[in-house]
Amino acid sequence: MVTRESPAAAPPAGVSRIVRTRAELRAALTKAPRPVGVVPTMGWLHEGHRSLMRQARADSATTVATIFVNPRQFNEASDYTRYPRNEARDLAICEEEGVDLVFAPPVEEVYPPGFDTVVAVGAIARPLEGAARPGHFDGVATVVAILFSLVGAERAYFGQKDAQQVMVIRRMAIDLALPTEVVTCATVREPDGLALSSRNARLSAAERSAAAVLRRALLAGRAAWERGERSAGAIRGAVSAELAREPLAQPEYVSVADATTLEELERVDRPALVSLAVRFGGTRLIDNEPLPAA
Ligand code: AMP
Repeated sequence: MVTRESPAAAPPAGVSRIVRTRAELRAALTKAPRPVGVVPTMGWLHEGHRSLMRQARADSATTVATIFVNPRQFNEASDYTRYPRNEARDLAICEEEGVDLVFAPPVEEVYPPGFDTVVAVGAIARPLEGAARPGHFDGVATVVAILFSLVGAERAYFGQKDAQQVMVIRRMAIDLALPTEVVTCATVREPDGLALSSRNARLSAAERSAAAVLRRALLAGRAAWERGERSAGAIRGAVSAELAREPLAQPEYVSVADATTLEELERVDRPALVSLAVRFGGTRLIDNEPLPAA
C-alpha cells in the first residue's frame, strides 16, 4: 500500500512513500541511504518505466520515481490535456517495483509563482523532435534540471526509446555540472515490436495494430544496412517504403543521422541513429534503431 506523507514514522520497507512538495522531497531524502537512483516519468506507467525502475533499484540503495505531466514540454495544448493519467494505478506499480519514494507534485510546486528560468540546450536539441515540436526540449531540460537539483541522485535512468531526449539531458547535465550520471536503458517492446508508450493508450484498435509498422520500418532500414547499404538516402527509402505499406501511418520524418550529433548523414560511415515520427490519427509515435560503426 502507498502511504501519504504524514508526521508518523517512516513507512516500512517495501512501501512507497509519496511526497508532493519540494520541501517534503528534500526532507525525505536527507536521511536516505546512498546511492540514490531517480526515474523521471510522466506517469501512465508501463513495462518501459518498470524496466527503468528495476535498473535503478539494482544500482541504488534508494530508488526515487517522479510522476509529473510537465506542461512545458507539450507544444500542443490538446496533447497535454489528453495525456493519460491514473495516479492510483501508477502508485501501485511503483510499489510493486520497490520504489522507495515517489515525488508526484502539483504544477505550482514544480513551477512556483514567478517562475522565470528556462534551460535551453543547443545544437543537439534542434533537429528531429526539436524541429517537429518547438519548445519541447526546453521544457524537458528545464523540468529535468529542477528534478536533478531537488533529488540530487547519483544516477538518473532514461529510455533509449526517446534517444534524442537522453542526448539532450546528458549534454545539459555535463554543461551545468549537475552531479547526476545519465543512464540509458533499452527500449521495451510489445510482442509485435511496438515500443511501449503512454500514448499507445490513445490508439484505436485499428491504429494499434497498424502501429506495428514502426518497428517493421526500422528493421527494414537495419536490414538494408546489414546487406551493406551505406547510402543514408537508400536506408531512409527502405524505411519510408515500409511505412507507405500501412495506410493509417502518416510519417512526419524518417531520419538517418550521426549517432553523436544527430546531423543527417549522406553516407553511413560511422555510428548512426535511424529514427522516425509517425502519426496515427491524432496520436504521434516515435521510435529509433541505432546502427553501430560500419
Ligand atoms: P515518459 O513517462 O513517457 O516521459 O517516459 C519516462 C521515461 O521512460 C523516459 O526516460 C522514457 O524514455 C522511458 N520510456 C518510455 N517508454 C519506454 C520504453 N518502451 N522502453 C524503455 N523506456 C521507455
